[in-house]
Amino acid sequence: MAKKTTRPAAKAKKRKAASKSAAKAVLRAAKAGKAAKPKSAKAQVEADIVAEHGDIRPWTRAEVTEAFRRFQSVDPAPKGELQHVNPFTLLVAVVLSAQATDAGVNKATPALFAAADTPEKMIALGEAQVRDLIKTIGLYRNKAKNVIALSEKLIAEHGGKVPGDRELLETLPGVGRKTANVVLNMAFGQPTMAVDTHVFRVSNRTGLAPGKNVLEVELKLVEVIPAEFMMHAHHWLILHGRYVCLARKPLCEKCIIADLCRWPGKTVLAA
Ligand code: SF4
Repeated sequence: MAKKTTRPAAKAKKRKAASKSAAKAVLRAAKAGKAAKPKSAKAQVEADIVAEHGDIRPWTRAEVTEAFRRFQSVDPAPKGELQHVNPFTLLVAVVLSAQATDAGVNKATPALFAAADTPEKMIALGEAQVRDLIKTIGLYRNKAKNVIALSEKLIAEHGGKVPGDRELLETLPGVGRKTANVVLNMAFGQPTMAVDTHVFRVSNRTGLAPGKNVLEVELKLVEVIPAEFMMHAHHWLILHGRYVCLARKPLCEKCIIADLCRWPGKTVLAA
């Protein structure tokens, strides 16, 4: 028997189709250089549908260089905002920051790191105490388990030291590609690129490195960003996304790369 489509399902289908066709119209306008000043939040949502599909025309090499030259001139040595005192506490802080804000993690970690700033001390502290100290952070039960398990593995396999190697880092409990990239960049000075929600949004909206998923965006960023900017690129993009190119109501009027940005939803005149 044919499945009967319910009314809410039909409505959702209709909304999706309308949104898709509006997004296509925004893209057509953007390609024609006509999308200078969208007026509504709806137009920005539609523009983001285009951006999140990696459909914005990529920047030229000269535009990429110009954008990073500006980031560098405003903030020559950007810093990450997660508090830490050594590579181990950086690793723990990044693990704790999954699906949580840096500010939220920073509220919990001073007490945690005062009690345990090495894998040995973390194990001595024990899972129950770690859990108690981080209970203001989302998913804290699982994260406490991972912090203890990764401390054990660091001692058992790496002499208690954080390895400066992506593959080894990714074998640690709770550590994925993004966390490994942050640790390699910040603790070992490697020119890696961690793509979080802010970096993904900025890369796609502007035309810096359009891509459909985080891995695609990461690989494009590594390919297009000139070597001289790579060490700080991750922090410039995160800070730009966190404080200027906000997910809702981006501050285009204050944006230092607004003239280069290709996002059809931006609220300043297109280049
Ligand atoms: S102009 Fe700047 S703030 Fe606005 S969307 Fe583009 S990059 Fe983001």
